[in-house]
Amino acid sequence: MVETDHDSKEFVNARHEMDALVAASMKKYEAKPNVAFSKLSELVKSMSLSKKLVGWSRKNSLWPLQFGLACCAIELMDFGAARIDAERKGYLLFRPTPRQCDVMLVAGWVTKSMVPEIKRLYEQMSEPRYVIAFGECATCGGPWWESYNIIRGIDQVLPVDVYVAGCPPRPENLFAALMKLQDKIGGKIED
Ligand code: SF4
Repeated sequence: MVETDHDSKEFVNARHEMDALVAASMKKYEAKPNVAFSKLSELVKSMSLSKKLVGWSRKNSLWPLQFGLACCAIELMDFGAARIDAERKGYLLFRPTPRQCDVMLVAGWVTKSMVPEIKRLYEQMSEPRYVIAFGECATCGGPWWESYNIIRGIDQVLPVDVYVAGCPPRPENLFAALMKLQDKIGGKIED
């Protein structure tokens, strides 16, 4: 059998040498995973931690819907003033569009003709969404509880998370109600 150049010992050695060089070069330029990101993705994969992170962000970014129904809404305005300084807890990001909100503050009496509109606003809000019944009228109809055109509390039509008593309640009560809602979202208190 005739030995060709390709079978010669020198050629085989050179080929092995070239393969080794290519392998070493590939290894040198191999993209290493970013340590910080790989660790972060491992952490995020852990269900309990990601749940906690989502819960923490949800709890600390309550965005109320900007609307008022009756005299209690005046207290909402006071809530937004410097005396209460609600911004220190991040409660003042009132949004005019329901799609950017997750907290509905029902401040005032609810007439039967307003019910479909309020329900529509609630359904347009992002989930999970929360409702605070602010004042006697929103809680049970208040002074108008026997009226022919006012419902006896917003909980007749929407699920309420926190009730605030008073006619009208003080803005400080709203501050406390939002803190209670945060406790509820954080799992500190139950329904
Ligand atoms: S609870 Fe009192 S202050 Fe508030 S809307 Fe009703 S009547 Fe007005």
